[in-house]
Amino acid sequence: MKEIIDLAIIGGGIAGVSASVYAKRAGLDFCLFEPKVIGGQLLLMETVDNYTGISLGTKASNLAAQLEKTLSDLQIEVVPEEISKFEISGKQVKLVFSEKLLIANAAIIATGASFRKLGLPGEQEFTGRGVSYCAICDGFFFKNKTVAVVGGGNSAVEEALYLSNICSKVYLIHRRKELRAIEYLQKELFSKSNVEVVFDTVIEGLKGTDYLVGVGIKNAITGKSGALSLNGLFIAVGVNPNTRVFKDILSLDESGFVVTDEEMKTNHNFVWSAGDCRKRPLRQLVTASSEGAIAAVSAYKYLKGGYISA
Ligand SMILES: Cc1cc2nc3c(=O)[nH]c(=O)nc-3n(C[C@H](O)[C@H](O)[C@H](O)COP(=O)(O)OP(=O)(O)OC[C@H]3O[C@@H](n4cnc5c(N)ncnc54)[C@H](O)[C@@H]3O)c2cc1C
Repeated sequence: MKEIIDLAIIGGGIAGVSASVYAKRAGLDFCLFEPKVIGGQLLLMETVDNYTGISLGTKASNLAAQLEKTLSDLQIEVVPEEISKFEISGKQVKLVFSEKLLIANAAIIATGASFRKLGLPGEQEFTGRGVSYCAICDGFFFKNKTVAVVGGGNSAVEEALYLSNICSKVYLIHRRKELRAIEYLQKELFSKSNVEVVFDTVIEGLKGTDYLVGVGIKNAITGKSGALSLNGLFIAVGVNPNTRVFKDILSLDESGFVVTDEEMKTNHNFVWSAGDCRKRPLRQLVTASSEGAIAAVSAYKYLKGGYISA
């Protein structure tokens, strides 16, 4: 590998792969870093929903394999390394991986995010079998069914509101006596006749064999245990962006998401960010993919001073 390259693309989820496709077609000298299998969060889901042009029921692993094939068809080599240190030095970035140093004239951060787990036994096994972390992705499968959302912040209330338009009954289970969500969301939530907020309550366990059928609950004040029969459980206790390496270097919001402008530019005019690690209103494949493309075109304009014609 060279010691200085034009562009480093960090993360081989759909955002990083999309950025790589555009960078390759623009003739940039770049490296794509991904320490795991190409596809990022695609490897955590069963089927792909909401991605325009992809047939309903498409296996996420098939889409991940297609991303890998696209890279190999375009002869884009993946560097199987995790970037452990990221520094700005003048108008360049310094990247450290496995005690090696690489200098790049520009970088695209596409390191994604991870949903926080409840940490319950069986949570992993039931994911995609009644347990979900994304109402927009999976809510459709619970039409006219009974579900619960766990959490008390804006995301949990938004998920509950979204599900209230699809499901017959939605419980919102929160461990404290008050929600943390902003006032207008709470007002809307309490106006829904099919939503019941269960305060001061924690989930003790998941019930079911192949598929979730309910949860064990416990009142955090009285200690009294109970159970809820459910078809689905949506866990909305937060999302962690994978941006620890960029802390104090890039502008991050209070939750750690990278702040960019609409061309995906960060606070450094030679660093862009795309996908779930970026502060954005919709964390989905379609947005991550398009942001990767925009970030690569922005990088091209910066590096070559030119434009890619449509
Ligand atoms: C269970 C589940 C179901 C979902 N269902 C849907 C759905 O049906 N439809 C939909 O549109 N969206 C869905 N989503 C959301 C969608 O998967 C994400 O919005 C999208 O995959 C984000 O892509 P990304 O490239 O931004 O990040 P990611 O997919 O998170 O990829 C980031 C990559 O960066 C790598 N990385 C991280 N740190 C470093 C580092 N320091 N150095 C190098 N590499 C690094 C990671 O290994 C990872 O591969 C779902 C998500 C989950 C978890």
